[in-house]
Amino acid sequence: MPATEVTVRVPGKVNLQLSVGPRREDGFHDIATVFHAVALHDDVTVAVAPIGSGISLTCEGEGQGDVPLDSTNLAWQAVQLLADSVGIQANVQIRIHKHIPVAGGMAGGSADAAGALLASDALWNLGTPKNVLHDLAAAIGSDVPFALHGGTAIGSGRGERITPVLASGTFHWVFALAPEGLSTAAVYAECDRLREGRHVPDPYMSDMMMQALRAGDPVLLGKSLHNDLQQAAFSLRPILGRVLEAGEEAGALGGIVSGSGPTCAFLARDAEHALDIAVHLTSSGIVRSVKRSSGPAPGARII
Ligand code: ATP
Repeated sequence: MPATEVTVRVPGKVNLQLSVGPRREDGFHDIATVFHAVALHDDVTVAVAPIGSGISLTCEGEGQGDVPLDSTNLAWQAVQLLADSVGIQANVQIRIHKHIPVAGGMAGGSADAAGALLASDALWNLGTPKNVLHDLAAAIGSDVPFALHGGTAIGSGRGERITPVLASGTFHWVFALAPEGLSTAAVYAECDRLREGRHVPDPYMSDMMMQALRAGDPVLLGKSLHNDLQQAAFSLRPILGRVLEAGEEAGALGGIVSGSGPTCAFLARDAEHALDIAVHLTSSGIVRSVKRSSGPAPGARII
């Protein structure tokens, strides 16, 4: 009996390093980034629906009210793109269970797209080769290929070109969640505004970061965290400066705005230290809610 539904678990991400180059002619920026998947997951189910019913989508969980339920949802676009690429009519129901904060800089929408791509490929028994799935993922968004891949990896180009990184060990994180999201496009625009008139070098990778990952050394990793979008996120959301200070006071090995924010990520020595930091942060009065997680986590996978 062929499956009538497939569920895929997909991780959120934090950028351990995010170096942003000058704005390109097409409006995008070349970046050099270290993606790190964390065990904060969304589950995406794609289920068979009656012939002629097309695509429908429901969402439950974290921030569900802010997730579009129509064809602007990245998971919907992923299913449509795969169907179009093989010339079939998509009659499916997509169900998303969210744990990744919405518009939080953790690429939740991209994760859902990766999940939907893999789930519909399995549901329709297409056996699409990995490199083709990767190209479809990149056509949906810059962060989608990494959500398929998972682990720790360098992202170049717009972030869609993925190279695995030799990394050892497990890292423990505390995420400070913001009550309201930030638009990625607005943060990049603010970054351009802040850098106007200045020479912007090409994006680069730091050697210290690579060394920290190879050695699985959380102290060195804490010192290597860097995000070129951080000032822009502070500028649009000044409270984030206080959140990072609170993490430092709580004893984190390092803190960073995740991607375009507003989620802030704090690195701990181990799971116990992470719990300590989480308690300090919530009692600081500056952060309302936190989540603990670890990485690297595997990429999109059928459960
Ligand atoms: P990134 O770090 O990739 O820039 P993000 O984590 O900041 O993204 P997302 O959670 O991906 O942000 O959501 C950004 C916007 O995308 C949301 O405000 C929402 O309108 C839209 N969106 C489309 N599809 C989804 C989805 N499946 N889940 C969440 N948001 C989605």
